[in-house]
Amino acid sequence: MTTENKTTTAKPSKAQALVAVKGMNDLLPPTSAQWEWLEEKVRGLMARHAYRNLRTPIVEPTALFVRGLGEVTDIVEKEMYSFEDRLNGEQLTLRPEATAGVVRAVVEHNMLYDGGKRLYYMGPMFRHERPQRGRYRQFHQIGAEALGFPGAEVDAELILLAATLWQELGLQDVRLELNSLGQPHERAAHRAALITHLEQHLDVLDEEAKRRLHSNPLRILDTKNPAMQAVVEAAPKLMDFLGEASLAHFNAVRAILDASGVTYRINPRLVRGMDYYNLTVFEFVTDRLGSQGTICGGGRYDYLIEQVGGKAAPAVGWALGVERVLELLKEQGSLPEAVGPDVYAIVPDAAALPVVFQTIQALRAQGVSVQMHAAQGAGGSENVGMGSMKSQFKKADHSGAEFALIFGEDELARGEVTLKSLRDGAGSQAAVPLIDVCACVAAKLAQGASLA
Ligand code: ATP
Ligand code: MG
Repeated sequence: MTTENKTTTAKPSKAQALVAVKGMNDLLPPTSAQWEWLEEKVRGLMARHAYRNLRTPIVEPTALFVRGLGEVTDIVEKEMYSFEDRLNGEQLTLRPEATAGVVRAVVEHNMLYDGGKRLYYMGPMFRHERPQRGRYRQFHQIGAEALGFPGAEVDAELILLAATLWQELGLQDVRLELNSLGQPHERAAHRAALITHLEQHLDVLDEEAKRRLHSNPLRILDTKNPAMQAVVEAAPKLMDFLGEASLAHFNAVRAILDASGVTYRINPRLVRGMDYYNLTVFEFVTDRLGSQGTICGGGRYDYLIEQVGGKAAPAVGWALGVERVLELLKEQGSLPEAVGPDVYAIVPDAAALPVVFQTIQALRAQGVSVQMHAAQGAGGSENVGMGSMKSQFKKADHSGAEFALIFGEDELARGEVTLKSLRDGAGSQAAVPLIDVCACVAAKLAQGASLA
């Protein structure tokens, strides 16, 4: 036994309760059921579009994000949780987004050897931001990525996929903003013109803009500073620097969206936070979540794979913020109600437990959800008993169950149980032979709550 494991006889003083890290939230029932509902919708939709699930580690080498996202992005400059592995000194980072990790995995496993891949992921991301509504330090993204496909049809497929998801979730008041960032040489020409323009208005630029003037002038267009709006408004537009091929790609995406009835607004100032985008970029935004109004963003990233060390291949994708999507659904009152189990098993006496288990296991095997009453509090049913009928019925009611199945001593002696409706107002009930319970419960559930 090591010294650390030695038990002490002294009574420990009451420890101070620990709380979660700021900006990182526990997800409790019944809210967690809404998350599961959303995730199920996404899985179904992804399957119907032939996107397959990819799961990458939450921790990646810091260099992946520095190289992939760009050194002068908000994320890399100030939002990453980075640390040194104490054991081997490696520089590691909790993933702030998942595209870089997806690309790393695709390259590492040579997944593009036989053509393009359509992938999706779900999971937590970490950014050191000021926590507020719709902005957390641990938040969750669902993302879709199509790698190895150069054509506008896949950009359109991904945008339609997201638009269909909003439809299937019943999400309203979301609009699509679309832009093209062109190719690197087109951006370079625009960038030079932009710097020249901004340099002519140095007096109105704020400190951040001045700092970014030569490192990331495109980001200045994203400013929320009202004093700079006029200068930003008058700045040269990237769209005017796009060549024929870039314009053709943009128009091809638009043509499919138009034909599919997806409405959008072209926003020439839409630039996105990461450096890796080219050609198509887009965001789905709402006015109903204050300044955290972007629920989903994405675009094409044809150069990222090469930048992360793979053989050059085109790619496009998006990521949505789960918290923001759910917040918007909640705001609209369109989140599904929490549902209780089908059946709550009332167990007046622990002696009935063998029969109870036999019966409820059979019910569960045929797909009925059953919550079994169990002794409450400390001490075990041997000591505290199963609780009064009254308290058990209270629990049954609180569970939201459709029916109570009562395993009373007298009924059991006759080879029966009582099935009682908890939802029909009248509390109608019927004696059911034990051997018929499965068939009877299935029939009642099919016909609705009433036993009348
Ligand atoms: P924002 O401009 O709101 O900071 P972003 O451009 O940094 O967003 P992306 O990196 O594009 O966001 O991530 C895609 C989506 O993930 C966002 O549209 C948003 O819904 C969600 N998201 C991003 N950061 C957070 C966060 N800190 N908390 C909650 N959701 C977030
Ligand atoms: Mg951000």
